[in-house]
Amino acid sequence: MPRSFIREARRPVGRRRDRIRPIIERLAAEHADARIALTFRNPLELLVSVMLSAQTTDVNVNRVTERLFEKYRRPEDYLAVPQEELERDVYATGFFRQKTRSIRGTMRVLLEEFDGEVPRTIDELLRLPGVARKTANVVAAELGSPQGVVVDTHVRRLSQRLGLTRQEDPVKIERDLMKLVPREDWGRFPHLLIWHGRRVCDARRPLCEECVLNDLCPSSRVDATALPAPPVPVP
Ligand code: SF4
Repeated sequence: MPRSFIREARRPVGRRRDRIRPIIERLAAEHADARIALTFRNPLELLVSVMLSAQTTDVNVNRVTERLFEKYRRPEDYLAVPQEELERDVYATGFFRQKTRSIRGTMRVLLEEFDGEVPRTIDELLRLPGVARKTANVVAAELGSPQGVVVDTHVRRLSQRLGLTRQEDPVKIERDLMKLVPREDWGRFPHLLIWHGRRVCDARRPLCEECVLNDLCPSSRVDATALPAPPVPVP
């Protein structure tokens, strides 16, 4: 089980329903450039990039896919080479055997069931081998139809620190966020938390003094007496 941040959320700052909109607005102003950090030119490249990004950095994936996507352009291309050749081509992203198996299995299903196109719904995406809920959510959101809220390590940590959930399990965290975050923000909300997590709310050393959310955050380490009063509840 990864480290929990739930117990850090102890300061009274008002109801999460009253805080969610200012949280989104402030993060959107602070991180106007927040977007997916993977490089891709079409839905197939997006899907492969997200599958390769498990347990590694986006920078590392981009380094590998720069050459990969010149060689593999259609689902058929991933099946036309021996398994070992694709394993070598994705080796630097780690877990290369498992990722190769998932990618080839996915390409087979794309060809057999989806005319070689990447599907748009979560249910269809989940039929692809090796595609779990997080990958399906990322792909659906980037293709313009978010149907859930992506929960990665940053989203989990910030949701817990901000008191938006008291759950540990990503599926239950997502359920809480889907109830709380306005639907039109499901796509951008995870990016805002991810970028805030990378730039400000580090797991070990959160920069609470510099954080635009420090008066809205029950985990803020800034002296409470120096902060404005929590937002007034909307009746
Ligand atoms: S950095 Fe911001 S969001 Fe993170 S714990 Fe501190 S005040 Fe909360």
